[in-house]
Amino acid sequence: YAKEELEPFRKDFYAQQGQPTMTDNEIYELRLNLGNIKVKGTGCPVPITRWSQLGLTTDVINLIVNDLKYEYPTPIQAQAIPAIMCGRDVIGISKTGSGKTISYLLPLIRQIKAQRPLSKDETGPLGLVLAPTRELALQIHEEVEKFTSTDQAINSVCCTGGSELKKQIQYLKKGVEIVVATPGRFIDLLTLNYGHLVKTRRITYVVMDEADRLFDLGFEPQITQIMKTIRPDKQCVLFSATFPNKLRNFALRVLQEPLSITINSKNLVNENITQKFYVAGSDEEKFRKLLQVLEYHEQQTDEKLNEESREDDGNDEKTIIFVSSQQICDLIHIKLENEGYTIYSIHAGKPYQDRVANLEQFRTTRNSILLCTEVLSRGLNVPEVSLVLIYSAVKCFAQYVHTTGRTARGTHTGVAMMFLLPDELAGAYILFKSICEKELIAHDPKQIEMLRSMSQNFEQGMKSGKFKVSQGFGGKGLDNLESKRKEKH
Ligand code: ADP
Ligand code: MG
Repeated sequence: YAKEELEPFRKDFYAQQGQPTMTDNEIYELRLNLGNIKVKGTGCPVPITRWSQLGLTTDVINLIVNDLKYEYPTPIQAQAIPAIMCGRDVIGISKTGSGKTISYLLPLIRQIKAQRPLSKDETGPLGLVLAPTRELALQIHEEVEKFTSTDQAINSVCCTGGSELKKQIQYLKKGVEIVVATPGRFIDLLTLNYGHLVKTRRITYVVMDEADRLFDLGFEPQITQIMKTIRPDKQCVLFSATFPNKLRNFALRVLQEPLSITINSKNLVNENITQKFYVAGSDEEKFRKLLQVLEYHEQQTDEKLNEESREDDGNDEKTIIFVSSQQICDLIHIKLENEGYTIYSIHAGKPYQDRVANLEQFRTTRNSILLCTEVLSRGLNVPEVSLVLIYSAVKCFAQYVHTTGRTARGTHTGVAMMFLLPDELAGAYILFKSICEKELIAHDPKQIEMLRSMSQNFEQGMKSGKFKVSQGFGGKGLDNLESKRKEKH
C-alpha cells in the first residue's frame, strides 16, 4: 500500500469522561479491585465502571443493559473497551467466560459506524474477526447479529469451511461490513474469482479471537498472509485465555505498540496462602502474640528440617513482618533483638546502602526475618518467604493483597497473618471479606466473634457515611473476591 492511496479513517472515539484526575495509586487500586487488571504499555486509559462512560448510543446501551441484562462491564470489558476505543492495538488476556467477545465487538461497531459506507462496487468488509474453529466463528457471529440485526448499515457474514460456500459468496457479493471467519476459509475467499470477490483494502479493524488456539491449530502462516494484504495502519486486537511465549512473539510482530491487558482475578489473594488473624486487646498482648507466632514458626521449620535432613539445602522458611511506620519498625527491631532474634530491617529512613545490604542478608540467610514498612516491600520477590505477619493492620484492600502477596510466590505455600487491635475496623473488614470459611473456623471462637463484630461495625459505619473507603473499595472488586472465595471452597 502506498500511503497516498489509503483513505483516512478514524480510530479514536474515547475521551475519558466523568473521571476527575485520579492519582496513580487510585488507578492502581481501581484496577486491583476490578479483578486485578494488569496493564503493560503506556497511555492506557483508566478502566470504566459504567457503560455510560463509553459514549455509545442509547440504542446500544439499552441493548446491553435492558435486553442482554449486562449490568456492569466485566473487568476485561472495563479496561479493554476504552483502550481499544482510544485507537490502540490491544492484547486482552482473560479467562474463558469473562466477556471478551463484546470487548472487541463494541469498539468494532463504533469504528464501522464512523466510516464512509461501502460504495456500490465495494464488497467490504471493514472489520474482520478471525476465530480458530467453525463453532466459535458461529458463536461470535451470533453476538455480532445481536448488536447489528436492526441496523441497516451493518451487514455481516460468517465464513467457515464446512458451511455452504455459495451462500457465503452471495452475501459477500451484496457487500458486508463485518466478516467473521476461520483463517483458512478467509484465504480461500480472497483468492476466489481472481481476488475480485473479497477485497481487503477497506479493512481497518482486525480481531484475532482465541488467539492461543489459532496458534495451536497452526494458523500462524495463514494469519501472517492475511495481514500482509491489509493496510498497515489498521487497528488490530488479539484476545485469548492464555498467552504462551510463542503467541507473545507473534503478537509483538503483528500488533503496533500494543497495550497488553491481563485479568488475573485468581491472584487477588493467592490461593497458596492460608490467611490468619489475631485480635489483641493491647499493644502488649500483640507483641506477646508475635513472639508466640515466631516461636511456633521456628519449631515447625526445625521439624521440617529434621524430616528432610537428606536434602540439606532445600529448606528455607523466611518471615516478613510488616509495620506501619519507621518508628514502629525501629521499636520492634529492638524488642525482637532483646528476645534473641536476628532481625534485618528496611525502611525509608535508613541509608540506601544499609537497605540493600540488609535485604541481601535477608535473602541469603536461611530462615531469616525481615522487618519492614509496607511501602518498601513493593515488588520484593523472595520466593522462600513462607510467613507474612501484618503487624500493623492494613487500611486498604490493595495493601492487603500486596503484603500477603509477599509470601507463597510461585508454587510455594505460605501463611499470612494479620494482627489487629480492637479499633482497627477497616483492617478487620478487609480481612473478613477475604478470608475463607475454612480459614475462619480454624480460629478460636472468641476471635471469630471479635473479628465479625469489628467488621460489621465498619460496614455500618460505611453505610452511615462515618467511614470513608478508598476508591473502588466497596465496589465490584469485593464482589469478585467473594465469588472467588466461594469458588475456591
Ligand atoms: P469469553 O469470550 O471471554 O469466553 P464471552 O464473550 O463468550 O466470554 O461471554 C461469556 C458470557 O458472559 C456470555 O454468555 C455473555 O453473554 C456474558 N456476558 C458478557 N458480558 C457480560 C457482562 N458485562 N455482564 C454479564 N454477562 C456478560
Ligand atoms: Mg470468546
